[in-house]
Amino acid sequence: MNKPTDESQIMKMEQPIFLQPMPPARPASRLQRLGDAMRRYRRLILGVQWAVVVFYLALVMIPAFLPLPGTGASVLNNLTLLAQFMFWGIWWPFVIVATLTMGRVWCGVLCPEGTLTELASRHGLGRPVPRWLKWGGWPFAAFVITTVYGQLVSVYEYPKAVLLVLGGSTVAAIAVGFVYGRGKRVWCRHLCPVSGVFALLARLAPVHFRVDRKKWDAAASTHPVPVDCAPLLDMRRMKSGSQCHMCGRCSGQRDAVTLAPRLPGAEVANLKAAEAGAWEARLLVFGIIGTAVGAFQWSSSPWFVAIKTRVAEWLIERDSFALLQDNAPWWLLTHYPEANDVFTWLDGIGVLTYIGATALILGSWITLWLRLAGALLPGDAKQNSRWIAYAFIPLGGLGVFLGLSALTVTLLKAEGVIMPWLPEVRGALLALAALWSLWLGWRMLQRISRWRKVFALGALGAAIGGNVFAWMLQFYIW
Ligand code: SF4
Repeated sequence: MNKPTDESQIMKMEQPIFLQPMPPARPASRLQRLGDAMRRYRRLILGVQWAVVVFYLALVMIPAFLPLPGTGASVLNNLTLLAQFMFWGIWWPFVIVATLTMGRVWCGVLCPEGTLTELASRHGLGRPVPRWLKWGGWPFAAFVITTVYGQLVSVYEYPKAVLLVLGGSTVAAIAVGFVYGRGKRVWCRHLCPVSGVFALLARLAPVHFRVDRKKWDAAASTHPVPVDCAPLLDMRRMKSGSQCHMCGRCSGQRDAVTLAPRLPGAEVANLKAAEAGAWEARLLVFGIIGTAVGAFQWSSSPWFVAIKTRVAEWLIERDSFALLQDNAPWWLLTHYPEANDVFTWLDGIGVLTYIGATALILGSWITLWLRLAGALLPGDAKQNSRWIAYAFIPLGGLGVFLGLSALTVTLLKAEGVIMPWLPEVRGALLALAALWSLWLGWRMLQRISRWRKVFALGALGAAIGGNVFAWMLQFYIW
C-alpha cells in the first residue's frame, strides 16, 4: 500500500495516538534505542508535555494579575521575576541551542502550544487545510510581526505583554487546531511564529530520524498501521530534519526509520541549489538576522537615542506635541507609569523605524554579496544566492542565541551575578558562528571549480562580516 503524499490525505487517516506498534527486534545503536524508547514510552512523553502545559500556563497567566515587582524583589521570592527569567533567560536561549544540537525535539516533546493545538485538533471540526494557510510566507510574516510587536509592548519586561503575545499565540494555536486537521499540528506546520526559525536551525542538527526508502517500500505489507505524524510529514520521502518534530512516534516504523547521527550541517552542505526556498532565505537574511538584530539592538543604540532626541527637539521647536504624547494603551505601546516606563508615539515610531531600517540595511548588505556570489556560480544567479544564504544558518542561530542570552545576562546581573569573562565568551561564540558559516559555505561549494569557489567564498565572507560588525557594535563598540 502506498503512503498518501497530499496533506489532506494524510490528515484523513485515522491514526490512534497510543496504538503505535513496536518495530521488530533489530541490532540497534544507542541512538536507535533512544528513538525506539521515545515511541515505546509515548505515555511518559505525554505526561511531560502536560506538565509543561500546566507550568507554562501558570507562568504566562498568574504574573499578569500580580503587581509589578518592587525594589528588592528577586527571582527567588517574586513569581513575576521568576517567570521573566524562565521565559527569556532560560527557555528561549536554550530552545535555540537544543534545536541546533537535537533538532526540533522542543516542538515534538515539550512545546505546550504544540500539545494544545494537537489536542484541539483531535476534538475539533477536522476541516482540510485551506490554500491561504499554506502560503509559504507565513513563517516569515509571523516571525517579523511577533518580534516587532513584542518590542513595542516590551514583552521581555512586563507580564501583561507576555500574556498578550504568548497567550495570544497559544489561543490562536488552539483555534487553528480546533478548526483544521484531525489530531494534527496545522498551526506548527504553517503559522507558528518560530516554526520557520526552528526549521532552519534543525537542518544543522547532528541527529535526525533517517528513513531508508528501500526498507520502507520492501516492508509495506508487513506494517499496516500508519504512524501518527502530527506535523503532517510524508515520512516515506523525508530527507530533511527541518519539519520533523523529533517526537519519535515513527521510530522503527517498517524497520526503516531510525534515530541516527550525521555531521553537523551535513544536510545543508548536501542541499541542491534547486531545493533552496525563497521564503526560507528571506526569513534567514531579513528576519532572523536583520529584524532580530534591530530588535535586540535598538535599546542600547546611541544612534537611536540621538536621532529620537533630534526629532523631539525639532517637534518642540515647531510647537508640535502630538507625537510626544504618551497616551497609547499598554497593548499598543509600553505604558507602565508605576515603573516610570512609558512610550510616547515618537518612541513607538522610532522603534519601528530602527528595526525596519536595520533589517533593510543589514539584509540588503547580505543580499548584495549573496547575489554576487550567486552570479559567480553556474546556473540561475537568484536561485544560487538563495542557496548560499543557507550558509548563514549558524551565524543567524547563534546570533539569536547571543541576543537572547543578553537578556539572561541582564537578569542575572540584577540578581548580583557578575560575569567578568562575558566579552571573551561572546567574542569566541561570534567567531565560532562566523567560521562555521564560512565552513558551511565552503562545503556547499565543494563541487564548484576552484576560482569561482574562491570568489564566491570571498563574497560570502563580506556578507558575514556585515553581520558580525552589527553584533560587535552592540557588544563591544557602544
Ligand atoms: S517524522 Fe513525524 S512522527 Fe516521525 S519523528 Fe518526525 S514528527 Fe515525529
